[in-house]
Amino acid sequence: MLLQPVETLSVRPLTGLNRDLDYRVPATLQTQLEVGSLVRIPVRNRQEMGIVTRLEASGDFPVSRLKYLASVEQPFPVLTPELITMAEWMARYYAADLAAVFELMIPAPVRKGMQPRRRSFFRAAPDSEGDSVEELRRRAPRQAELLAFLRSQPGRRAVPKATVLKRMGIAAASCRALVEKGLIVEETVDHPREAYSDELAGAEHVTAMDLTLNAEQQEAADAIVKRVEAGGYDAYLLHGVTGSGKTEVYLAALQQALAVGGGAIFLVPEVALTPQTIGRMRARLEQQSGVRAVVWHSHLSEGERYDAWHALATGEARVVVGARSAIFAPIRNLRLIVVDEEHEPAYKQEETPRYHGRDVAVYRATLCRCTCVLGSATPSMESLYNVERDKYRLLRLRCRVDDRALPLMHVVDMKREVLSQKGHVVFSRLLLDKIGERLERREQSILFLNRRGYNTSMLCPDCGHVAVCDHCSITLTFHRADNILRCHLCGFDQVAPQRCPKCRSPKIRWRGSGTQRIEDVAQRIFPKARIVRIDADAMQKKNLFRSILADFRKGLIDILVGTQMIAKGLDFPNVTLVGLVDADLSLHLPDFRALERTFQLLVQVAGRAGRGDRAGEVVVQTFMPHAAPIQHARKQDFEGFIDGEMEQRREYRYPPFRHLIHHIFRGKNPEKVQFFAEQWARLLEKEIPKSVEIRGPAPAPIEKIKDHYRFQLWYFTPSITPFIDQLADLRRSFPKEKDLHDVIDVDPVNLI
Ligand code: ADP
Ligand code: ZN
Ligand code: ZN
Repeated sequence: MLLQPVETLSVRPLTGLNRDLDYRVPATLQTQLEVGSLVRIPVRNRQEMGIVTRLEASGDFPVSRLKYLASVEQPFPVLTPELITMAEWMARYYAADLAAVFELMIPAPVRKGMQPRRRSFFRAAPDSEGDSVEELRRRAPRQAELLAFLRSQPGRRAVPKATVLKRMGIAAASCRALVEKGLIVEETVDHPREAYSDELAGAEHVTAMDLTLNAEQQEAADAIVKRVEAGGYDAYLLHGVTGSGKTEVYLAALQQALAVGGGAIFLVPEVALTPQTIGRMRARLEQQSGVRAVVWHSHLSEGERYDAWHALATGEARVVVGARSAIFAPIRNLRLIVVDEEHEPAYKQEETPRYHGRDVAVYRATLCRCTCVLGSATPSMESLYNVERDKYRLLRLRCRVDDRALPLMHVVDMKREVLSQKGHVVFSRLLLDKIGERLERREQSILFLNRRGYNTSMLCPDCGHVAVCDHCSITLTFHRADNILRCHLCGFDQVAPQRCPKCRSPKIRWRGSGTQRIEDVAQRIFPKARIVRIDADAMQKKNLFRSILADFRKGLIDILVGTQMIAKGLDFPNVTLVGLVDADLSLHLPDFRALERTFQLLVQVAGRAGRGDRAGEVVVQTFMPHAAPIQHARKQDFEGFIDGEMEQRREYRYPPFRHLIHHIFRGKNPEKVQFFAEQWARLLEKEIPKSVEIRGPAPAPIEKIKDHYRFQLWYFTPSITPFIDQLADLRRSFPKEKDLHDVIDVDPVNLI
């Protein structure tokens, strides 16, 4: 495509410099540039990458003094001006390096200058007729052969160049000669590496046809659709119980965005785990609007990644469905952003830049002046608080589609089970009875336990020794299949000992249960049942997840055992029982969100049951049957739980009432780490405003990870900016120590 010639321009270097630089454009490159193009520029003595920000120089310097642009790496707009503004905001808000944010935003193959895969074709020129073949035959028989072949193609169809060169064995020079004589034409088209089409499809989660929305869905869809049509920024929280048909509401909004000629971003917490939704969603959008949608996730090859980005940046595709980094897609005329399961911790990136996909989504919507929809069955406290403060508009779906009943939840007090069954109990009698019923009725069950491995710890009853990781301060988990003890933080493993390594006692005990043990015990009790386990350990084999889900759907599996990773989004009509083997795991996390997480887990897990026409049941095993999240989840009392939890947060002024910044210091020498953390805290106390509360330094909940000792500080602040600026400045001036690292995590999700 030829663009207007550009003689000078402004470029934002991707090195983290906070301003634009001016350049001249060599004549050969003048027609290849747009705002957003990725270019190579000389900066001092080096060549750097940059993004074109304006198609003329700032005028601060005479043109004759400007340096020349070195090359154009990607002519299409890699970053729009809003995305550059967003990068600046992210760097500031998350105290990150601007260059690192740019690096995050531009996928590696785009940065590396990969080009679209193109394919060339030859076809006979439409207006070349007559006896040129005969003439050629004498002087250039190979040319004549090719010309005759191309003319003989039905409808003068094009033939791939590769076929001509390789299969017919015709020299490139002969082809060129024919092209120069005007007898044949060469055509080149983009040829995307389309690997993501059907691979992800595979379920009836999103039906191919439009469903007739029920009244609640219609009301929610109308509100959003009207907003998308009108344009301008607004944000909605779509709070719909599990199985209330939120996907249909999103689809209505997406179709509207496409109908007005715009683009859209649809974020899901984890693409690999929800292939069902995604494949169908994409198919449906493409069928109905004829607009291409691309899927974006971490399993794409470099080539696929490049093509997806290229398609979005050039406007050839207008919708991206993907995991959190899809929020950076260079979509033009963005009209809608949807964040499904907005409460999911997976939206937070746990390495720098530590951004939150949902929060960045809302920010981008304000910048692009478009509609943002956050959806969940269990919205986060942050989003609910934003509704309370009138920042988001609340839309409710209170019923499941077709008025299917929400599952009945039984809470089992495991203290009593332990007394009556005498000793360690994996399954309560109630849960066993319910599983037995399902097996008889040929219905399916899912058992959840958020802990991998076989047993959780090794204990010596004689000397009290517990097997702990050599490098981290957590206990090792027994993996029976490989007979090893493994650390779930750093991966360290060792052969499981026969005797206590300390006192040589042979009486070693194994405590606690992981998914492997659940599978084993269930199989022993129900020898005929077909039981399959899904967790990160079982998932090491490629494609296994998909094939297991397919088998489960076909009814080839009776009981699916898994960690929380299978709790999301699964929609299997024949599942009528869900067992939560140990609800206390999340309840005891050293995290102020422990109750919120437990409540969310219970509601999401329960949502997997009774999606067909038979009602579902849920059995929750706990030693704390009266805990608020359990009781409220049992009664489906969302408001009750939220009111209590909000009250607690308000009282302790935890998020969302104040922002939290988590600052971790780590290093190999614990005394030194502590000393530095204390020095730093002393400095802060002198410098920062009274409105910011500092807590710590204290050892982090996990004191040692991978041989690094960790100390933490918490800052509670009414707002992130401008405090974060001051924090970043002080940090820059604070003396650096070689073997001491620190990390600042703004609005942290993981406090361990
Ligand atoms: P949620 O995301 O709210 O848990 P889903 O969007 O997954 O719910 O919808 C649950 C099921 O209900 C899906 O199988 C979907 O096809 C079906 N469904 C949604 N809306 C309707 C409707 N209006 N009529 C009939 N079935 C519907
Ligand atoms: Zn011992
Ligand atoms: Zn470890």
